[in-house]
Amino acid sequence: MPRQVCSTCKRPPSVCYCSALVQVANRIKVLIIQHPLEQKHPFNTGRMAHLCLTNSDLIVAEHLSDKQLDNILSVSSALLYPSLNWLPEVEQLNNDVEKLDSKLEQLIVIDSNWSKSKKMLHIHPRLQALPRLSLQSHEKSNYQIRKSTMSESLSTIESITQALTQLEGNQTYYQLLKPFDKMIALQQANSKGVR
Ligand SMILES: [Zn+2]
Repeated sequence: MPRQVCSTCKRPPSVCYCSALVQVANRIKVLIIQHPLEQKHPFNTGRMAHLCLTNSDLIVAEHLSDKQLDNILSVSSALLYPSLNWLPEVEQLNNDVEKLDSKLEQLIVIDSNWSKSKKMLHIHPRLQALPRLSLQSHEKSNYQIRKSTMSESLSTIESITQALTQLEGNQTYYQLLKPFDKMIALQQANSKGVR
């Protein structure tokens, strides 16, 4: 018998976080490119962000065709990604948020584990070449369920929350953490007694 899951969040009913979903109207569109494996990950937060943000899109793909990229990049875009030394030097948005706010139309976010996101960037030089927003790492993740090889790295929804707060200069985006906190609480409640 197929496992029963909620049709919205795709999680089993006992850990469905939908009652905590919020609707947030964001100006800068968030385009989430999700690795196909991430789609099946129980603690995926890319879908959660998409469900909460009125101006967002979710594409599930590892490799994007030139035509898809043409479409995606037809508006002024930036990539949310740490600045790493193997990536090309590009415009960094962090220090110029005021100038950027008026012209940036889309923030592209890769939703994947760390090694797969690197691979996805490797095979898409056009994404590497975009102006980049790299978050400051002083905010610690609440995400203790899932270990990352990058210590203290933020989950996708935490990264989006921080990025939109920084780019649009208001605090309403912290609402996005409501379903995330609920997911963590449900998971912790459910794992008690298991071991
Ligand atoms: Zn649900």
